[in-house]
Amino acid sequence: MHDRLFINGCWRAGTSGRTLDVINPATERKFAEVAVAGPEDIDAAVAAARAAFDDGWGRTSGWERGRYLRAIAQAIDARLDELSAIEVRDNGKPLPEARWDIEDAAACFEYYAQQAEALDDRQGEVVALGDRRFESRLCWEPAGVAGQIIPWNYPLLMAAWKVAPALAAGCTSVLKPSELTPLTALELAAIAADVGLPKGVLNVVPGPGATGATLAKHPGIDKTAFTGSVPTGSKVMSAAAQDIKNISLELGGKSPFIVFDDADIEAAVEWIMFGIFWNQGEVCSATSRLLVQDGIAGRLLDALAEAAGRISVGDGFREGVQLGPLVSSGQYRKVLDYVAVGREENATLICGGARPQGLDTGYFLEPTVFTDVSASARIWNEEIFGPVLAARRFATEAEAIALANDTPFGLAAAVMSADGERCERVSRALRAGIVWVNCSQPTFTEAPWGGIKRSGIGRELGRWGLENYLEVKQVTSYVSSEPWGWYDNHSTLGDKG
Ligand code: NAD
Repeated sequence: MHDRLFINGCWRAGTSGRTLDVINPATERKFAEVAVAGPEDIDAAVAAARAAFDDGWGRTSGWERGRYLRAIAQAIDARLDELSAIEVRDNGKPLPEARWDIEDAAACFEYYAQQAEALDDRQGEVVALGDRRFESRLCWEPAGVAGQIIPWNYPLLMAAWKVAPALAAGCTSVLKPSELTPLTALELAAIAADVGLPKGVLNVVPGPGATGATLAKHPGIDKTAFTGSVPTGSKVMSAAAQDIKNISLELGGKSPFIVFDDADIEAAVEWIMFGIFWNQGEVCSATSRLLVQDGIAGRLLDALAEAAGRISVGDGFREGVQLGPLVSSGQYRKVLDYVAVGREENATLICGGARPQGLDTGYFLEPTVFTDVSASARIWNEEIFGPVLAARRFATEAEAIALANDTPFGLAAAVMSADGERCERVSRALRAGIVWVNCSQPTFTEAPWGGIKRSGIGRELGRWGLENYLEVKQVTSYVSSEPWGWYDNHSTLGDKG
């Protein structure tokens, strides 16, 4: 396991002399210590990324970059068992879910290897102009040095979503992982070194929020890519405003799941649970607000409470565990506070709400469902980021849409009904970047990811993820044999030939 900063292809202790304790949330015990990057380390990392960009990475062909990305994908796959185990210890998630993340991270690098290769074919595309005296061609160029800041809920996968498209585009990266889960990002740096990625192309600088703030305002960064909470995203955006940095933001959500009377109850319960209990509910797109139509509500909520009560909670390494601990003591306290708020707001607790019996250590919480939640309740409106579902009933389609859209967030939404036309209608009416029909949460590397309103700016994944790190340039040539004529004859200027 690596515990130092990765700057310019070398492992360094860091000039701050400080370290972060890495805690296993299932045991509450420290199991690693990682160096903290201070301002001088950020300066060094940005300088290394700049030099690597200028020295050639920014001018390599997509085909060449694709070779490195594919090698990284293969190396991640080869270390699947080891990386999954680190993720469980660091984040708490169940081992099968950690394996899923690591496989997805490898697939993300492979996908952007292909995108990098395809970029070569797009270069020089002709733009049809309304004036035949000119010819305009396009080239896509890397945005430059990317400062990338990520959260703790999918540590390696979030790193992959940032680093793979940036490198595919020809950018170089300074990546700051979350202080709560820095380990697999450092392993990614080790993999980059193993596959021979040129020094300085990827730099990994763990540290707390202050390290992120130093990176976000660094004048040597051309592009800021941030994933995290709305309040931090707002600060990162202010920092970017100082020198008008190119910025993309993937922020929080409070996504609705609408279930109509004609839905299959068993399928609905399964997807509702996946939408809020997968990854302990620590998912930006978690469908944490459930809207159930009156005719089905009683039976559905009974079935949901019964099924949620059977979810196996425990250490992510234990066979059969479906819900691990929350990531940290701070996150645990925050989620428990929201459970207390739900009780104070007179919502009805139909299951969970407490530490599971027999699990006296670790940040464990039972899967929790509140019903009869008022539309003005804090648990209905605020992102909890834990295994806590807020549910309420509705009568009509119009009411469900109005309640679903009544939020400052706009990341995701889900709708479930046997009526395809209704699903189509509702999915168009929902104000969100992602809408799931008859499911919740499936995420594909090929499809755009991101939100509207306070959930962010821009899209990751798919070809949109690559565009995040590219600037398009027009090269326009005068190709007519006729003189331009501005000086001698203004009257012919409008004649497009
Ligand atoms: P956070 O905002 O607290 O921290 C995110 C990252 O920002 C961390 O690396 C942190 O150290 C850093 N940071 C903190 N203060 C900073 C500052 N002033 N300047 C720059 N960087 C700073 O979020 P979190 O608790 O790590 O993650 C949970 C949040 O992330 C949730 O709101 C969740 O919805 C969101 N999220 C969004 C997506 C998405 O794709 N939209 C994906 C995952 C998580």
